[in-house]
Amino acid sequence: RPLVGVLALQGDVREHEHALRDGGADVVKVRRPEELERLDGLVLPGGESTAIDKLARTFGVAGPLKERIAKGLPVYGSCAGMILLADRLADPATDLSGAPQQTFGGIDMLVRRNAFGRQVDSFEADLDIPSVDAVDPGNPLPVRTVFIRAPWVESVGEGVDVLASVPVTYRHAHEAAEHGAGDAQPDAGGVEAGGVARIVAVRSGNLLATSFHPEVTGERRIHRLFIQIIRGEA
Ligand code: GLN
Repeated sequence: RPLVGVLALQGDVREHEHALRDGGADVVKVRRPEELERLDGLVLPGGESTAIDKLARTFGVAGPLKERIAKGLPVYGSCAGMILLADRLADPATDLSGAPQQTFGGIDMLVRRNAFGRQVDSFEADLDIPSVDAVDPGNPLPVRTVFIRAPWVESVGEGVDVLASVPVTYRHAHEAAEHGAGDAQPDAGGVEAGGVARIVAVRSGNLLATSFHPEVTGERRIHRLFIQIIRGEA
């Protein structure tokens, strides 16, 4: 079993630990730079990217982690973790001194934080993600995902594979659902009618990032895909 760390400075660390163990990895929490050394892979959890950034710099993990990423350490980031893997942010937060938040980087992409709007901070979606289906061809179910104050990817560079997108009209569907119209579903017609699909899952070499949290739904195929990446099987 590969040894996978979960960066445990802030965020939904336990949910990722469970998902990784279910998926076939041994798991350790990571807080200190020396704990990075023996890892086969690392998860950056969902949470608050500004807090994780600050703590990672305070604990001296940020610099060594950037180096490990540059040397090819497989890393999966969900939500805040996606933000932390972005080379560029569309709207970095600034602290009281006016300094912008930083990322570890690694994926050539521009990410916008809290992109799905203020009124609707959270929604669930069933997504068809072919590269994730391939992890478990016997499982016909779409990928159940949760978006919580989620970022989206506005653009990607060469070498970044887009794994999944959702139409931005999704949140309108969600609002309808809140008013009793049933479970929200992505409104693909919105794209056909000229709406914009936003990227919510990407892979760049050994780096994987999702806007959403698969770890809170019982979905395990994203974590299994990540473990396959670590093993060199995907
Ligand atoms: N909006 C958060 C941030 O900027 C991410 C939210 C999440 O991880 N659920 O870090």
